[in-house]
Amino acid sequence: MDSLVGKIAIVTGGSRGIGAAVARKLAAAGADVAINYVSGADAAAAVQAEIEAMGRRCLVIAGDVSVAAEAKSLVDQAIAAFGRVDILVNNAGVTRDNLIMRMSEEDWDKVIAVNLKGTFNCLQAVSRPMLKQRSGTIVNMASVVGIGGNPGQANYAASKAGVIGLTKTAAKELASRGVRVNAVAPGFIETDMTKDLNNEYAEKLRQAIPLGVFGQADNIADAVVFLASEAASYITGEVIKVDGGLFI
Ligand code: NAP
Repeated sequence: MDSLVGKIAIVTGGSRGIGAAVARKLAAAGADVAINYVSGADAAAAVQAEIEAMGRRCLVIAGDVSVAAEAKSLVDQAIAAFGRVDILVNNAGVTRDNLIMRMSEEDWDKVIAVNLKGTFNCLQAVSRPMLKQRSGTIVNMASVVGIGGNPGQANYAASKAGVIGLTKTAAKELASRGVRVNAVAPGFIETDMTKDLNNEYAEKLRQAIPLGVFGQADNIADAVVFLASEAASYITGEVIKVDGGLFI
């Protein structure tokens, strides 16, 4: 597939897990990619080497998306290097799980800051250049728990429900200038974020998935590349669940 030849993409949290898979698949479809991370420079450099080996350009940009100035700077750096931005994938995210009765203010604030405010910060930073060029696509990483809720994840579920509201609002605000905004809502995907689940709970969860297996980062990346491409040119404000049927 070479549907993204000549396009410039930014992937936040592109150094590991789903973000790394998204960056690789965007590059495989022809895009040059700027990948952002916050602390794991080695992982980001490894993804950069893979993308460059595909013959695409790849810029690595450190920065905390929850800080508006750093989000703006990461978009500015990508535009300075590549001349424009066509695709933003707001993927950076964290969890700090606990029951409501035990959740600290710090854990609430951290998850909302990275997942929701971080998504807004980057979306806001690309809006001006995308509106000016009258084209662009933004894909936000939500979660099925932002639709259905999940005990122990009040902060995370609220952040992802917020991402869905933000996606729909931005889709309405930016549509008249040719900018599309969509979200992908993954189910249970095997990455660092989910590797610490105890075996018993993981098995119960697997049994609740109609397709019977956990998802892989590439499953999410396929949906992101579709939404970012011309194949999705009449889709905006949509949330696509990619969850093996878990939240049917
Ligand atoms: P992951 O393996 O833990 O990777 C998280 C990525 O986000 C890393 O690249 C990390 O960079 C980056 N990051 C974290 N905080 C950041 C910040 N403040 N600024 C910039 N980058 C930051 O997570 P994942 O499982 O791939 O999840 C990716 C996205 O999918 C998240 O939004 C997550 O909520 C969502 N999601 C995941 C699942 C799942 O089952 N895994 C399900 C639903 C939704 P460093 O390495 O530098 O920290």
